[in-house]
Amino acid sequence: MAKNRNDWEQSFQSLQIEGRAFIDGQYCAAADGATFDCTSPVDGRFLAKVASTDAADAELAVQVARRTFESGVWSGLAPAERKRILIAFADLILVHKEELALLETLDMGKPISDSLSIDVPATANAIRWTAEAIDKVYDEVAATPQDQLGLVTREAVGVVAAIVPWNFPMIMASWKFAPALAVGNSFILKPSEKSPLTAIRMAQLALEAGIPKGVFNVLPGYGHTVGKALALHADVDVLAFTGSTAIAKQLMVYAGQSNMKRVWAEAGGKSANVVFADAPDLKAAAEAAAGAIAFNQGEVCTAGSRLLIERSVKDQFMPMLVEALKAWKPGHALDPATTVGAVVDARQLENVLRYVQIGQDQGAALIAGGSRTLEETGGLYIEPAIFDGVNNAMTIAQEEIFGPVLSVITFDTAEEALKIANDSIFGLAAGVWTRDLSKAHTFARGLRAGSVWVNQYDGGDMTAPFGGFKQSGNGRDKSLHAFDKYTELKATWIKL
Ligand code: NAD
Repeated sequence: MAKNRNDWEQSFQSLQIEGRAFIDGQYCAAADGATFDCTSPVDGRFLAKVASTDAADAELAVQVARRTFESGVWSGLAPAERKRILIAFADLILVHKEELALLETLDMGKPISDSLSIDVPATANAIRWTAEAIDKVYDEVAATPQDQLGLVTREAVGVVAAIVPWNFPMIMASWKFAPALAVGNSFILKPSEKSPLTAIRMAQLALEAGIPKGVFNVLPGYGHTVGKALALHADVDVLAFTGSTAIAKQLMVYAGQSNMKRVWAEAGGKSANVVFADAPDLKAAAEAAAGAIAFNQGEVCTAGSRLLIERSVKDQFMPMLVEALKAWKPGHALDPATTVGAVVDARQLENVLRYVQIGQDQGAALIAGGSRTLEETGGLYIEPAIFDGVNNAMTIAQEEIFGPVLSVITFDTAEEALKIANDSIFGLAAGVWTRDLSKAHTFARGLRAGSVWVNQYDGGDMTAPFGGFKQSGNGRDKSLHAFDKYTELKATWIKL
């Protein structure tokens, strides 16, 4: 039977929360003993003291990762053997799904139903899908002259460090560690200081599944301390990042200042969701548009934060949108009926409220939400907001808010809509709603975005690559393309 809020509270009482780093197969305090308090945005409760690791810990973790990589204890295993162990890891995540879901929700505020039905299974699936692929990808024999044999082989890069955000802590981490580990690298994960708990727990499960000690390490701590130390480290081969565009740029500087490590960045977004008058179902489009901004408290890199609506249907569409947003009501994140949980921390809440103010100051019309709510819970909740009358030059249409604030922009022609959609420094995702097949294809082709959804918003699974154009990043997570980030290609020429 599904758990109710009281059941989850009971589970919390028996939860043993681990807050230490995980290096060389064991939990350990930061070298200097530093910790920070981890509290829940759901209601302000204290969760754990978490190790605040720094350069000394990064040094140790990199040495351990390098040593295990070179020992071949993991890198030297047959792909089928790594597959078996990674699938065992995915299975263990599902065995512990309630514990992980509870940690994820309490740590970063998302609704418990989402953690349980989306975050935990998607993490296990990312690991399983990638593991299942790894003994089915082949290297190449080049089209050489008769007296030559040219082999094109992929090799693991060595030591991979990943720095990830707090909005989907487990999923974002798994999109990095699954392919990096599958090809044989050793791995260091730096979770966000705002959501370290599931990463710390998963490290133990990885060991239990059979991933040798030293291959999967977790360093909780701040970006400007341990994150920076990893990014500047001369013996990290690849830095895989998901987070803001500003920090992605900084990491590229660090790479240039150190060993020119490859930096793969999945960064910010300001995605356009374009609804044409000939959308197959305007109500469905309105419901999807509401979900596109309110799901996960709007803390989604692909959030459909700019809604472009064709003028001729706007009056019909807007009441549907306002109505659809009512399904997205903030509530206590441990209540299984809740659809909108808590914003990750007070700073983020202030930031979102600041953008609501800026929107009003610049002349957009706030027609729904935009206020803090449920303050009596001690948690950080905000009513999803809609701004009408936005023009694309406004701050709320250009900057990534990373909260539930929707900008509605009106257009008259497809050309105008495309120009507005692409008028952004970002290019992560976009949606198009039309029943005209040719228009859908032409428009999708014109969009400068890594994912395009037609007559839906946010479709996708492990089979297709995910990532951004422009300042939304480089490289791709998910699918077989993800292996490219964690391997080097070697050409071997044999004279026959
Ligand atoms: P952030 O950039 O502030 O932090 C991300 C990570 O970088 C954290 O672990 C942080 O500790 C670390 N960090 C911060 N400063 C650092 C430094 N100087 N050196 C090294 N590491 C440092 O982002 P956030 O607030 O955690 O997450 C929100 C952002 O993530 C949004 O911009 C969102 O669009 C983006 N995001 C992108 C995707 C994607 O796939 N493109 C997915 C999810 C989130």
